[in-house]
Amino acid sequence: FTIEERLNANAWDVDIHRPHIKIKDPDKCRTCEKKPCTYMCPAKCYVQQGDYIVLSTEACVECGTCRVVCPHGAIEWNYPRSGMGIWYRFT
Ligand code: SF4
Repeated sequence: FTIEERLNANAWDVDIHRPHIKIKDPDKCRTCEKKPCTYMCPAKCYVQQGDYIVLSTEACVECGTCRVVCPHGAIEWNYPRSGMGIWYRFT
């Protein structure tokens, strides 16, 4: 199996009304020089649009990388509510 095939085996129960990750201060992202979240997130949840970052948490694999690599502490990160988020399925 390829990594993509293994990831495609997973399922998500997305908590659409309560995202588990938030950008606390978008202005910090705007002035962030390297914007590491845009290339470190394996699920491509962070996309640069102009100077700003757009975050979509639907495909998040809950790896925690973004909370570690953000140089400005601009990300508020919590696990999804119980039973929500990714359901890993091993093939
Ligand atoms: Fe991306 Fe991992 Fe952060 Fe989820 S926890 S948004 S997959 S870097």
